[in-house]
Amino acid sequence: MTKQTKKRLPSLPSLLDRKIYKTGQTRGADDDEIFQNRVSRNGTVLIPYSVVKQVFASLPKGESFEKGYIVLISPKQYFENKNIAIELKQLDLSLGVNLLIFYEVREDWNLYSPDTKGLSPATSRTQPLGGEFVARIPATTSTGNGQKISLGFHTTKPKGAGIRFYEYATEKMTTDCRIQLETLFWLCYDSKNVSLANGMTEENSNLRRESILGIATANGLLDYKKLISSRIIDREHKTICPLCLEKLSSTGFFNKMEQAEGREVSDLTITQLNLFHINELRLGELNHTTYNLGWGHHHCNVVVKDAGIIPTLEWMDKVVRKNKESGYL
Ligand SMILES: [Zn+2]
Repeated sequence: MTKQTKKRLPSLPSLLDRKIYKTGQTRGADDDEIFQNRVSRNGTVLIPYSVVKQVFASLPKGESFEKGYIVLISPKQYFENKNIAIELKQLDLSLGVNLLIFYEVREDWNLYSPDTKGLSPATSRTQPLGGEFVARIPATTSTGNGQKISLGFHTTKPKGAGIRFYEYATEKMTTDCRIQLETLFWLCYDSKNVSLANGMTEENSNLRRESILGIATANGLLDYKKLISSRIIDREHKTICPLCLEKLSSTGFFNKMEQAEGREVSDLTITQLNLFHINELRLGELNHTTYNLGWGHHHCNVVVKDAGIIPTLEWMDKVVRKNKESGYL
């Protein structure tokens, strides 16, 4: 979407606008973690050394991460592997440039102390990284010297070194996803009334809907067949929850309930809608892509979690059958 088009469009109600905007940011990382929370999805990508080949292979040919990447290697992998120099060379990795030693367990910290190895903590997310290691070791009470160790990158927000590689999306993909996700709001059966109830005029509501659907069509983001087969909309072209397949009421976009990340309660009465990933995550695959994102009930999303929709349905089927067989249902 060009800036000019955007300017001419009437704005969305702010809660909805915010909800769609936030889909372009990373989520769910705690303050102490190595990952950055609520930053743009095209940020520096952190890749565990063990999956670096798969991750590189998952990138479209000729593409690289827009803001670079940092590979994280454990002290053990780095100091105990006799072939490490050759391996790193083959992967074009070098310490302090695009590779960091990542201390996350106390045992490693004691065994391969950065002091004795002459390593300093990294400070930059772009090359050169300003150091060779990063440490995030939780506090423990079981040993005498068990305080938290957090070294490398900023001590103030955002503290992390980068984002999870599967959260990564190019700037264009992020924009395309936002357009598709707004389209899905407009495809909710009650979106018109709900937009009016949340402050849009009828004229603005119609104009915004038509424009967004037009932009989506022009950019290949409104392939109804594909949306239906991805269980994002139903045959009447109405937005549905990918798990329970119920038509979604767009009032769920305006629920103000905000809870701490990762501490959501599972309450059946909560109708809030969440961003829903259609295909579960696979190693070395990017997750934030068009036709892989829908909106769904908060509760349904919690049930599916990382398991994926089909494995969840199979499990539910087993549970229901067993309960019927045993006479409980
Ligand atoms: Zn549902």
